[in-house]
Amino acid sequence: QNALLSATGTTIFTVMSALATEHGAINLGQGFPDYDGPEDVIEAAAAALKDGRNQYPPLTGVPELRQAVATHNKRFYGLEVDPNAEVIVTSGATEAITACLMAVLNPGDECVLIEPLYDTYLPVVKLLGAVPKLVRLTPPKWELPRAELAAAFGPKTKAILLNTPMNPTGKVFTAAELAFIADLLERHDAYAICDEVYEHLTFDGWKHIPLMTLPGMRPRCMRVGSAGKTFSLTGWKIGYVTCDRSLAPNVAKAHQNLTFTTPPNLQRGVAVGLAKEDAYFAGLSAHLERKRDRMAAGLARLGFGVLPTQGSYFITTDFRPLGFNGDDVAFCRAITLEAKVTAIPVTAFYASEQPPSHYARFAFCKNDALLDEALARLGRWI
Ligand code: PMP
Ligand code: GLN
Repeated sequence: QNALLSATGTTIFTVMSALATEHGAINLGQGFPDYDGPEDVIEAAAAALKDGRNQYPPLTGVPELRQAVATHNKRFYGLEVDPNAEVIVTSGATEAITACLMAVLNPGDECVLIEPLYDTYLPVVKLLGAVPKLVRLTPPKWELPRAELAAAFGPKTKAILLNTPMNPTGKVFTAAELAFIADLLERHDAYAICDEVYEHLTFDGWKHIPLMTLPGMRPRCMRVGSAGKTFSLTGWKIGYVTCDRSLAPNVAKAHQNLTFTTPPNLQRGVAVGLAKEDAYFAGLSAHLERKRDRMAAGLARLGFGVLPTQGSYFITTDFRPLGFNGDDVAFCRAITLEAKVTAIPVTAFYASEQPPSHYARFAFCKNDALLDEALARLGRWI
Protein backbone atom coordinates (compact mmCIF):
# COMPACT_ATOMS: atom_id res chain seq x y z
CA GLN A 1 0.00 0.00 0.00
CA ASN A 2 1.05 3.58 -0.55
CA ALA A 3 2.72 4.74 2.65
CA LEU A 4 1.67 8.36 2.34
CA LEU A 5 -1.97 7.52 1.91
CA SER A 6 -1.85 4.98 4.72
CA ALA A 7 -0.48 7.75 6.93
CA THR A 8 -3.23 10.18 5.87
CA GLY A 9 -6.25 10.17 8.15
CA THR A 10 -9.86 10.34 6.98
CA THR A 11 -10.67 13.98 6.25
CA ILE A 12 -11.94 15.96 9.22
CA PHE A 13 -15.03 16.97 7.20
CA THR A 14 -16.15 13.35 6.87
CA VAL A 15 -15.26 12.56 10.48
CA MET A 16 -17.23 15.48 11.89
CA SER A 17 -20.21 15.03 9.54
CA ALA A 18 -20.46 11.38 10.59
CA LEU A 19 -20.26 12.39 14.26
CA ALA A 20 -22.97 15.01 13.71
CA THR A 21 -25.27 12.43 12.10
CA GLU A 22 -24.59 9.89 14.82
CA HIS A 23 -25.53 12.36 17.56
CA GLY A 24 -28.31 14.26 15.80
CA ALA A 25 -26.26 17.46 15.86
CA ILE A 26 -26.76 20.52 13.65
CA ASN A 27 -23.84 20.28 11.26
CA LEU A 28 -22.01 23.61 11.08
CA GLY A 29 -18.82 21.67 10.36
CA GLN A 30 -18.46 20.69 6.71
CA GLY A 31 -19.09 23.72 4.49
CA PHE A 32 -22.19 23.09 2.38
CA PRO A 33 -25.38 25.13 2.12
CA ASP A 34 -28.68 23.63 3.27
CA TYR A 35 -30.44 25.53 0.45
CA ASP A 36 -30.29 24.92 -3.27
CA GLY A 37 -28.57 26.89 -6.00
CA PRO A 38 -30.33 29.00 -8.66
CA GLU A 39 -33.34 27.39 -10.32
CA ASP A 40 -32.26 28.29 -13.88
CA VAL A 41 -28.85 26.64 -13.38
CA ILE A 42 -30.49 23.46 -12.13
CA GLU A 43 -33.08 23.56 -14.95
CA ALA A 44 -30.36 23.94 -17.57
CA ALA A 45 -28.54 20.87 -16.25
CA ALA A 46 -31.79 18.88 -16.02
CA ALA A 47 -32.68 19.82 -19.60
CA ALA A 48 -29.21 18.75 -20.76
CA LEU A 49 -29.65 15.40 -19.00
CA LYS A 50 -32.90 14.80 -20.89
CA ASP A 51 -31.46 16.15 -24.10
CA GLY A 52 -29.02 13.32 -24.66
CA ARG A 53 -25.97 15.14 -23.34
CA ASN A 54 -24.80 12.10 -21.46
CA GLN A 55 -21.67 10.87 -23.23
CA TYR A 56 -18.04 11.91 -22.84
CA PRO A 57 -17.69 15.62 -23.51
CA PRO A 58 -14.43 17.16 -24.83
CA LEU A 59 -11.48 16.60 -22.50
CA THR A 60 -11.01 20.25 -21.54
CA GLY A 61 -14.75 20.92 -21.07
CA VAL A 62 -17.84 21.67 -23.15
CA PRO A 63 -17.29 24.73 -25.39
CA GLU A 64 -20.18 26.68 -23.79
CA LEU A 65 -18.64 26.39 -20.34
CA ARG A 66 -15.10 27.20 -21.49
CA GLN A 67 -16.50 30.29 -23.20
CA ALA A 68 -18.48 31.19 -20.05
CA VAL A 69 -15.34 30.87 -17.90
CA ALA A 70 -13.41 33.13 -20.28
CA THR A 71 -16.21 35.71 -20.33
CA HIS A 72 -16.50 35.61 -16.53
CA ASN A 73 -12.76 36.30 -16.23
CA LYS A 74 -13.13 39.34 -18.47
CA ARG A 75 -16.31 40.60 -16.79
CA PHE A 76 -15.09 40.47 -13.20
CA TYR A 77 -11.32 40.88 -13.50
CA GLY A 78 -10.59 42.31 -16.95
CA LEU A 79 -8.61 39.19 -17.88
CA GLU A 80 -8.37 38.29 -21.57
CA VAL A 81 -8.67 34.50 -21.78
CA ASP A 82 -8.77 32.24 -24.82
CA PRO A 83 -11.58 29.71 -24.14
CA ASN A 84 -10.01 27.19 -26.51
CA ALA A 85 -6.48 27.27 -25.15
CA GLU A 86 -6.55 28.61 -21.59
CA VAL A 87 -9.49 26.97 -19.77
CA ILE A 88 -9.78 23.42 -18.41
CA VAL A 89 -12.97 22.20 -16.75
CA THR A 90 -12.41 19.65 -13.97
CA SER A 91 -14.43 17.52 -11.57
CA GLY A 92 -14.37 20.05 -8.75
CA ALA A 93 -11.74 22.50 -7.58
CA THR A 94 -10.19 19.59 -5.68
CA GLU A 95 -9.26 17.93 -8.95
CA ALA A 96 -8.28 21.28 -10.47
CA ILE A 97 -5.78 21.97 -7.68
CA THR A 98 -4.30 18.49 -8.01
CA ALA A 99 -4.06 18.86 -11.79
CA CYS A 100 -2.29 22.22 -11.46
CA LEU A 101 0.19 20.83 -8.93
CA MET A 102 0.81 17.85 -11.22
CA ALA A 103 1.30 20.22 -14.15
CA VAL A 104 4.29 22.02 -12.65
CA LEU A 105 5.87 20.01 -9.82
CA ASN A 106 8.70 17.53 -10.29
CA PRO A 107 10.01 15.34 -7.46
CA GLY A 108 12.30 17.41 -5.24
CA ASP A 109 10.75 20.75 -6.20
CA GLU A 110 9.67 22.93 -3.30
CA CYS A 111 6.10 24.17 -2.98
CA VAL A 112 5.22 26.94 -0.53
CA LEU A 113 1.99 26.38 1.41
CA ILE A 114 0.33 28.76 3.83
CA GLU A 115 -1.05 27.49 7.15
CA PRO A 116 -3.81 27.05 8.16
CA LEU A 117 -4.29 25.11 4.93
CA TYR A 118 -7.07 23.19 3.21
CA ASP A 119 -6.65 19.52 3.86
CA THR A 120 -6.08 18.17 0.34
CA TYR A 121 -3.04 20.35 -0.41
CA LEU A 122 -0.32 18.69 1.59
CA PRO A 123 -0.97 15.02 0.71
CA VAL A 124 -1.00 15.84 -3.00
CA VAL A 125 2.22 17.86 -2.86
CA LYS A 126 3.88 14.97 -1.04
CA LEU A 127 2.47 12.30 -3.36
CA LEU A 128 4.10 14.17 -6.24
CA GLY A 129 7.42 13.87 -4.45
CA ALA A 130 7.63 17.62 -3.98
CA VAL A 131 8.79 19.23 -0.75
CA PRO A 132 6.28 21.39 1.16
CA LYS A 133 7.55 24.62 2.76
CA LEU A 134 5.00 25.74 5.33
CA VAL A 135 4.50 29.35 6.36
CA ARG A 136 2.04 30.23 9.12
CA LEU A 137 -0.27 33.20 9.17
CA THR A 138 -0.35 34.98 12.51
CA PRO A 139 -3.70 34.79 14.35
CA PRO A 140 -5.96 36.36 15.37
CA LYS A 141 -5.69 38.73 12.39
CA TRP A 142 -4.05 36.12 10.16
CA GLU A 143 -1.31 38.46 9.06
CA LEU A 144 1.16 37.29 6.44
CA PRO A 145 4.64 37.13 8.03
CA ARG A 146 6.55 38.60 5.12
CA ALA A 147 10.09 37.80 6.24
CA GLU A 148 9.14 34.17 6.83
CA LEU A 149 7.41 33.92 3.49
CA ALA A 150 10.46 35.36 1.73
CA ALA A 151 12.68 32.90 3.60
CA ALA A 152 10.52 29.99 2.44
CA PHE A 153 11.40 30.80 -1.17
CA GLY A 154 14.73 29.51 -2.47
CA PRO A 155 16.47 28.08 -5.53
CA LYS A 156 14.30 24.95 -5.48
CA THR A 157 10.96 26.76 -5.18
CA LYS A 158 8.68 25.87 -8.06
CA ALA A 159 5.30 27.06 -6.81
CA ILE A 160 3.12 28.56 -4.13
CA LEU A 161 -0.42 27.40 -3.41
CA LEU A 162 -2.46 30.40 -2.39
CA ASN A 163 -6.06 30.33 -1.13
CA THR A 164 -7.94 33.62 -1.10
CA PRO A 165 -10.61 34.18 0.14
CA MET A 166 -9.26 31.68 2.59
CA ASN A 167 -10.67 28.61 4.29
CA PRO A 168 -10.82 28.35 7.34
CA THR A 169 -9.71 31.89 8.31
CA GLY A 170 -12.10 33.93 6.17
CA LYS A 171 -9.11 36.10 5.25
CA VAL A 172 -9.08 38.01 1.96
CA PHE A 173 -5.51 38.77 0.89
CA THR A 174 -4.86 42.47 0.31
CA ALA A 175 -3.41 44.04 -2.82
CA ALA A 176 -0.19 44.76 -0.88
CA GLU A 177 0.15 41.14 0.27
CA LEU A 178 -0.47 39.90 -3.25
CA ALA A 179 2.13 42.33 -4.63
CA PHE A 180 4.64 40.97 -2.13
CA ILE A 181 3.90 37.40 -3.26
CA ALA A 182 4.07 38.44 -6.93
CA ASP A 183 7.52 39.92 -6.39
CA LEU A 184 8.73 36.65 -4.81
CA LEU A 185 7.34 34.66 -7.74
CA GLU A 186 9.15 36.88 -10.25
CA ARG A 187 12.41 36.74 -8.34
CA HIS A 188 12.31 32.96 -7.97
CA ASP A 189 10.77 32.23 -11.36
CA ALA A 190 7.93 30.31 -9.71
CA TYR A 191 4.26 29.54 -10.40
CA ALA A 192 1.15 30.09 -8.31
CA ILE A 193 -1.78 27.73 -7.95
CA CYS A 194 -4.55 30.10 -6.91
CA ASP A 195 -7.44 28.44 -5.07
CA GLU A 196 -10.13 31.08 -5.52
CA VAL A 197 -13.23 28.96 -4.93
CA TYR A 198 -14.70 31.66 -2.64
CA GLU A 199 -14.06 34.45 -5.16
CA HIS A 200 -17.69 35.64 -5.04
CA LEU A 201 -18.10 35.32 -1.28
CA THR A 202 -16.58 38.48 0.17
CA PHE A 203 -18.08 40.88 2.71
CA ASP A 204 -17.90 44.46 4.05
CA GLY A 205 -16.73 45.83 0.72
CA TRP A 206 -13.70 43.51 0.58
CA LYS A 207 -12.98 42.69 -3.05
CA HIS A 208 -11.35 39.52 -4.20
CA ILE A 209 -8.24 40.23 -6.27
CA PRO A 210 -6.90 37.34 -8.36
CA LEU A 211 -3.09 37.20 -8.13
CA MET A 212 -3.28 36.63 -11.88
CA THR A 213 -4.33 40.26 -12.42
CA LEU A 214 -1.10 41.69 -10.96
CA PRO A 215 1.64 42.87 -13.34
CA GLY A 216 3.69 39.97 -14.69
CA MET A 217 1.48 37.34 -13.06
CA ARG A 218 -0.70 36.31 -16.02
CA PRO A 219 1.69 33.55 -17.26
CA ARG A 220 2.63 32.37 -13.76
CA CYS A 221 -0.82 31.78 -12.27
CA MET A 222 -3.27 28.91 -12.51
CA ARG A 223 -6.56 30.29 -11.22
CA VAL A 224 -9.09 27.80 -9.86
CA GLY A 225 -12.83 28.39 -9.43
CA SER A 226 -15.65 26.13 -8.24
CA ALA A 227 -19.30 26.01 -9.26
CA GLY A 228 -19.97 24.39 -5.90
CA LYS A 229 -19.29 27.67 -4.09
CA THR A 230 -20.37 30.15 -6.75
CA PHE A 231 -23.78 28.50 -7.22
CA SER A 232 -24.34 26.87 -3.80
CA LEU A 233 -24.22 23.42 -5.43
CA THR A 234 -21.31 21.78 -3.65
CA GLY A 235 -22.27 18.25 -4.73
CA TRP A 236 -21.93 19.08 -8.41
CA LYS A 237 -18.13 19.10 -8.28
CA ILE A 238 -17.44 21.29 -11.28
CA GLY A 239 -14.19 23.23 -11.15
CA TYR A 240 -12.41 25.34 -13.74
CA VAL A 241 -8.80 26.32 -14.26
CA THR A 242 -7.76 29.45 -16.09
CA CYS A 243 -4.09 29.61 -17.04
CA ASP A 244 -1.68 30.65 -19.73
CA ARG A 245 -1.66 28.65 -22.96
CA SER A 246 1.89 27.52 -22.15
CA LEU A 247 0.66 25.77 -18.97
CA ALA A 248 -2.77 24.58 -20.12
CA PRO A 249 -1.60 21.48 -22.07
CA ASN A 250 0.06 20.08 -18.94
CA VAL A 251 -2.98 20.83 -16.77
CA ALA A 252 -5.13 19.12 -19.43
CA LYS A 253 -2.84 16.07 -19.40
CA ALA A 254 -3.12 15.84 -15.63
CA HIS A 255 -6.93 16.04 -15.96
CA GLN A 256 -6.76 13.38 -18.70
CA ASN A 257 -5.08 11.02 -16.27
CA LEU A 258 -7.20 11.89 -13.23
CA THR A 259 -10.79 11.87 -14.50
CA PHE A 260 -10.46 12.57 -18.25
CA THR A 261 -13.80 14.42 -18.44
CA THR A 262 -16.49 15.96 -16.26
CA PRO A 263 -20.30 15.43 -16.55
CA PRO A 264 -21.46 17.40 -19.62
CA ASN A 265 -24.99 18.09 -18.36
CA LEU A 266 -23.74 19.75 -15.18
CA GLN A 267 -21.25 21.73 -17.26
CA ARG A 268 -24.22 23.12 -19.26
CA GLY A 269 -25.86 24.26 -16.04
CA VAL A 270 -22.70 25.98 -14.85
CA ALA A 271 -22.33 27.76 -18.21
CA VAL A 272 -25.79 29.27 -17.66
CA GLY A 273 -24.79 30.18 -14.10
CA LEU A 274 -21.59 32.03 -15.01
CA ALA A 275 -23.58 34.11 -17.49
CA LYS A 276 -26.06 35.25 -14.83
CA GLU A 277 -26.61 38.96 -14.28
CA ASP A 278 -24.32 40.96 -11.96
CA ALA A 279 -27.16 41.14 -9.41
CA TYR A 280 -26.89 37.39 -8.84
CA PHE A 281 -23.24 37.59 -7.77
CA ALA A 282 -23.81 40.68 -5.62
CA GLY A 283 -26.87 39.00 -4.09
CA LEU A 284 -24.90 35.88 -3.22
CA SER A 285 -22.33 37.76 -1.17
CA ALA A 286 -24.99 39.99 0.44
CA HIS A 287 -26.99 36.88 1.41
CA LEU A 288 -23.94 35.28 3.04
CA GLU A 289 -22.83 38.53 4.64
CA ARG A 290 -26.15 38.68 6.51
CA LYS A 291 -25.61 35.12 7.70
CA ARG A 292 -22.05 35.93 8.73
CA ASP A 293 -23.41 38.88 10.74
CA ARG A 294 -26.13 36.78 12.36
CA MET A 295 -23.73 34.04 13.36
CA ALA A 296 -20.89 36.37 14.43
CA ALA A 297 -23.24 38.42 16.64
CA GLY A 298 -24.82 35.29 18.11
CA LEU A 299 -21.49 33.66 18.92
CA ALA A 300 -20.13 36.86 20.42
CA ARG A 301 -23.26 37.15 22.63
CA LEU A 302 -22.56 33.64 23.90
CA GLY A 303 -19.06 34.68 24.90
CA PHE A 304 -16.96 33.27 22.06
CA GLY A 305 -14.04 35.28 20.77
CA VAL A 306 -15.10 35.88 17.17
CA LEU A 307 -12.31 36.40 14.65
CA PRO A 308 -13.02 38.65 11.66
CA THR A 309 -14.32 36.99 8.49
CA GLN A 310 -13.86 38.91 5.26
CA GLY A 311 -15.01 36.10 2.97
CA SER A 312 -15.83 32.37 2.58
CA TYR A 313 -18.47 30.26 4.39
CA PHE A 314 -16.71 30.26 7.75
CA ILE A 315 -16.23 31.99 11.07
CA THR A 316 -13.30 31.07 13.28
CA THR A 317 -13.96 31.40 16.99
CA ASP A 318 -11.72 31.36 20.04
CA PHE A 319 -13.50 29.27 22.68
CA ARG A 320 -11.09 30.04 25.55
CA PRO A 321 -13.33 32.81 26.97
CA LEU A 322 -15.98 30.13 27.63
CA GLY A 323 -13.63 28.48 30.10
CA PHE A 324 -13.65 25.11 28.32
CA ASN A 325 -10.97 22.80 29.63
CA GLY A 326 -9.49 21.06 26.58
CA ASP A 327 -8.24 21.53 23.04
CA ASP A 328 -10.18 22.20 19.84
CA VAL A 329 -10.74 18.52 19.07
CA ALA A 330 -12.19 17.99 22.53
CA PHE A 331 -14.28 21.15 22.21
CA CYS A 332 -15.78 20.19 18.83
CA ARG A 333 -16.51 16.71 20.11
CA ALA A 334 -18.11 18.05 23.29
CA ILE A 335 -20.42 20.48 21.53
CA THR A 336 -21.42 17.76 19.03
CA LEU A 337 -22.27 15.23 21.72
CA GLU A 338 -23.61 17.58 24.39
CA ALA A 339 -24.90 20.75 22.71
CA LYS A 340 -25.77 18.90 19.46
CA VAL A 341 -23.96 21.43 17.26
CA THR A 342 -20.92 20.49 15.18
CA ALA A 343 -17.91 22.65 14.30
CA ILE A 344 -14.47 21.87 12.87
CA PRO A 345 -11.29 21.97 15.00
CA VAL A 346 -8.87 24.36 13.29
CA THR A 347 -5.81 22.21 14.13
CA ALA A 348 -7.05 19.99 11.26
CA PHE A 349 -5.74 22.76 8.97
CA TYR A 350 -2.19 22.56 10.34
CA ALA A 351 0.61 20.14 9.49
CA SER A 352 3.46 21.70 11.45
CA GLU A 353 4.15 21.24 15.15
CA GLN A 354 2.22 22.96 17.94
CA PRO A 355 -0.59 24.65 16.07
CA PRO A 356 -2.92 26.98 17.94
CA SER A 357 -5.49 24.64 19.49
CA HIS A 358 -8.17 27.02 20.79
CA TYR A 359 -10.07 27.73 17.58
CA ALA A 360 -13.26 26.16 16.23
CA ARG A 361 -14.64 26.88 12.75
CA PHE A 362 -18.39 27.31 12.22
CA ALA A 363 -20.03 27.27 8.76
CA PHE A 364 -22.79 29.86 8.37
CA CYS A 365 -24.04 28.88 4.87
CA LYS A 366 -27.32 27.64 6.39
CA ASN A 367 -30.91 28.80 6.73
CA ASP A 368 -31.38 31.45 9.41
CA ALA A 369 -33.70 29.22 11.46
CA LEU A 370 -31.02 26.55 11.65
CA LEU A 371 -28.35 29.09 12.64
CA ASP A 372 -30.67 30.42 15.36
CA GLU A 373 -31.39 26.92 16.63
CA ALA A 374 -27.66 26.14 16.73
CA LEU A 375 -27.04 29.33 18.72
CA ALA A 376 -29.87 28.48 21.11
CA ARG A 377 -28.46 24.98 21.66
CA LEU A 378 -24.97 26.36 22.31
CA GLY A 379 -26.49 28.91 24.70
CA ARG A 380 -28.19 26.16 26.72
CA TRP A 381 -24.96 24.15 26.81
CA ILE A 382 -22.77 27.04 27.95
N1 PMP B 1 -10.55 24.69 -1.89
C1 PMP B 1 -11.08 25.16 -0.76
C2 PMP B 1 -10.37 26.22 -0.01
C3 PMP B 1 -12.27 24.63 -0.28
O1 PMP B 1 -12.80 25.09 0.86
C4 PMP B 1 -12.90 23.61 -1.01
C5 PMP B 1 -14.11 22.95 -0.42
N2 PMP B 1 -15.20 23.24 -0.88
C6 PMP B 1 -12.34 23.18 -2.21
C7 PMP B 1 -11.15 23.72 -2.61
C8 PMP B 1 -12.95 22.09 -3.02
O2 PMP B 1 -13.89 22.53 -3.97
P1 PMP B 1 -14.72 21.50 -4.85
O3 PMP B 1 -15.86 21.02 -4.04
O4 PMP B 1 -15.13 22.28 -6.07
O5 PMP B 1 -13.80 20.37 -5.22
N1 GLN C 1 -14.59 22.70 1.68
C1 GLN C 1 -15.48 22.16 2.66
C2 GLN C 1 -15.11 22.67 4.04
O1 GLN C 1 -14.06 23.22 4.25
C3 GLN C 1 -15.49 20.67 2.73
C4 GLN C 1 -15.31 19.91 1.49
C5 GLN C 1 -15.09 18.47 1.82
O2 GLN C 1 -15.82 17.91 2.61
N2 GLN C 1 -14.05 17.90 1.28
O3 GLN C 1 -15.89 22.48 4.93
